[in-house]
Amino acid sequence: MLKKPESMDECVYFTNRDIGSGRAMAWVYRKQCPKCSEGVMGKPINKRGKPDKKAPVYECTKCHHQMSNEEAEKIMQLEVDYKCPHCGFEGQTATEYERKSFQGVQSYVFECQKCKAKIPLTKKLKDTKKKGKEDIQ
Ligand SMILES: [Zn+2]
Ligand SMILES: [Zn+2]
Repeated sequence: MLKKPESMDECVYFTNRDIGSGRAMAWVYRKQCPKCSEGVMGKPINKRGKPDKKAPVYECTKCHHQMSNEEAEKIMQLEVDYKCPHCGFEGQTATEYERKSFQGVQSYVFECQKCKAKIPLTKKLKDTKKKGKEDIQ
């Protein structure tokens, strides 16, 4: 069983949404800093005290050790608690924290463990950059 986050502060990504007749709650936990093992890796805090989502790096909250987005995202996992919109199966799964093009929209994609359907968590439309058209199905 996956542990659902208790607070958004534990996560670098969190979503809870309906998908057709199904639903999905998905999150990515912050990772412990590989350097000091005390802080956690998150987006650097900007002048307004908010995480800077566009920063090209993740930074440790304690020692300020930095990792590129690519490096940090490689060690993070997207965990999903879902009800499949195709077969109604309720389950949990984990997948890589990497956006892929799904029917032309940048999405995190996970697979139903029962019917193997690919289920996309599309990026919010306002910040979707349409690039590439490759379909992963
Ligand atoms: Zn650190
Ligand atoms: Zn299914």
